[in-house]
Amino acid sequence: MTCGLETHVELSTKSKIFCGCSNSFGKSPNSNCCPVCTGLPGAMPSLNKRVVEYAVKAGLALNCKISNLSYMDRKNYSYPDLPKAYQISQFYVPLCYDGFVELKNGRKIGITRIHIEEDAGKLIHKDGEILIDYNRAGVPLIEIVSEPHIKSTEEAKEYLEKLRLIMRYIGVSDCKMQEGSMRCDVNVSVSDSEELGTRTEIKNMNSIAFIKEAMEFEAKRQIEILRQGGEVCQQTLGYDEKKAQTYVMRTKEDADDYRFFREPDLLPLHIRGEDIEKIRESLPELPDEKLKRYISHFELEEKDAELIIKYPNVASFFEQTLKEKVSPKTVAKLILGVVFAHLKSETLKEEFKLKITPHSFGSLLKLAESGKLNMSKTKETLEKMLASGKKAEELLSEEDLKGLSQDEFTSLCRRAVELNPKIVSDFKAGKDKAVMALVGFVMRESKGRADAGKAKEKLIEILRD
Ligand code: ZN
Ligand code: MN
Repeated sequence: MTCGLETHVELSTKSKIFCGCSNSFGKSPNSNCCPVCTGLPGAMPSLNKRVVEYAVKAGLALNCKISNLSYMDRKNYSYPDLPKAYQISQFYVPLCYDGFVELKNGRKIGITRIHIEEDAGKLIHKDGEILIDYNRAGVPLIEIVSEPHIKSTEEAKEYLEKLRLIMRYIGVSDCKMQEGSMRCDVNVSVSDSEELGTRTEIKNMNSIAFIKEAMEFEAKRQIEILRQGGEVCQQTLGYDEKKAQTYVMRTKEDADDYRFFREPDLLPLHIRGEDIEKIRESLPELPDEKLKRYISHFELEEKDAELIIKYPNVASFFEQTLKEKVSPKTVAKLILGVVFAHLKSETLKEEFKLKITPHSFGSLLKLAESGKLNMSKTKETLEKMLASGKKAEELLSEEDLKGLSQDEFTSLCRRAVELNPKIVSDFKAGKDKAVMALVGFVMRESKGRADAGKAKEKLIEILRD
């Protein structure tokens, strides 16, 4: 199986691509459109500069070259969601070209091109009728076209997740597949030689899980046809999620059918090298570099670092907390343990809206690091902070805050040994686990203020003395 992906990503600019309508999702139908985005006679487009800037950002983040001179073209077809009967896109010269996304296995998935274009309106099928909402018409898109380099459903998934993460880090799109701000056309072919087979294209997929299903189904279907001596025909397919199978939408459509020509209402698009460099300089640290830094500099485990980086808001909270000069490993451990347990869904983790600030989280950690709180008390306090939004100092009693001095701690351990001769003789007789009963004694007597790990060490030291 070989697969290439065409990914449409909606850009989160304030306004649409060719008019001043706001670029927002979820408004009441047809309340957010104007003569330009609904294609009324005489209305003239003008290109939103920010769209170009965002697209260049995306191109640079995906290792692309940027065209200093590109053009807008008309893609002609008639459909009810496209009132002008053409989409303004880029065909002959795209804004960005020749990039790649690197997968974990080191394979580079080539990016053929990234071009800018307008989205169409949305058709809503309801009670046997078709309704049209033009709010989406003119929403800015980039289309990211990959080379046919993807060899498995796993690679497709990784490629898309990485693409989405990079777009989120550079802030050009939220890439919410369920809201349609990232959609994929999936090209699949099979072959038993080096030469690529005839491909089919599955249109408009908006879930990674369904993309994997559709790829598998389509590869099997094509292999079956070839085994029986037939030929795969080049078709545009849809995917029926309920039946878990593809179905034919159109047969044999080629670029020629769209009668592309230069858009006469818009000027050529010139971008100066120095402006491209300015955009390059404005790029934030990208997920791959971040991962390397978290591992080498903060000494996090790779899987922990990956989990933090997976959510840009979490990574930002993590880094802000580190400004409080606390241990990165402890911060990571508490975020991935206590905070993630508090945020049950994927959406909540993505949003990462907490009642605590990095500063208040940092103050709690400082108390822990100064030895005043043990790990279980720290976790318990953090849970309370997350639920109430109160600061650690408000939730802890004076006794808690006073902490356990080294002298108190040592004398408690000695007392544990003196008052429990039976346990001590068990330990000396070779029952190593008996020491845990003494740890329990220390924890009880200190009202949980002692650190269980340190108590165990100290007790063994006293017992072996
Ligand atoms: Zn408009
Ligand atoms: Mn497109």
